[in-house]
Amino acid sequence: MSTDTRSDTRYPLPTSADDVVPTSFDTLPWAAPLTPRAASPLVVPEPPRRGEPGGEPCGVCEHRSTGAAWSDGHWTLHPPVGGSLPGTVWMASREHVDSFRDLSDAAAASFGLIAARVERAILSLGGVGRVHLYRWGDGGAHFHVWFLPRPLGMLDASGPMLPLWEDVLPNVPDVILREAAERVAAALEATA
Ligand SMILES: [Zn+2]
Repeated sequence: MSTDTRSDTRYPLPTSADDVVPTSFDTLPWAAPLTPRAASPLVVPEPPRRGEPGGEPCGVCEHRSTGAAWSDGHWTLHPPVGGSLPGTVWMASREHVDSFRDLSDAAAASFGLIAARVERAILSLGGVGRVHLYRWGDGGAHFHVWFLPRPLGMLDASGPMLPLWEDVLPNVPDVILREAAERVAAALEATA
């Protein structure tokens, strides 16, 4: 078994602009010309994430993230910082586990019910076309999912474009993000 951390393996360079998902190109938050590029060399093994052995401490367990706007026995719901879409929240498990596969049966069973309530609560804010749910897990090893409200009528932000637009739109003050999360929490509590 190799201990090399880099590999010469690369995914191939697209051969033309037509290979770069042309149907989505017009909704990117950047204007042409964008040019295809090859992916960086693979890094194997991957570097440790926050909250796993060898990585930085878990910010969720050490309460270094934003305080919860809502919680129950399995989940905590938090506003983001440095975001552009009020109504965005992230939900973390009470238990320090990595992914769906690691959740206790009780937490896994409650996930769908809570996700549905969070979605309804975000929609109740108004001006929301759809609520997107993302689970990446590439930054921290503490299970969490993101709920992002796609602004009503903002079809450019449909599908995977919403996180890209969220990144380039001007940030709103963190106090606004928290206030919106607290309204989500109040609506969530009202549906209990
Ligand atoms: Zn943790």
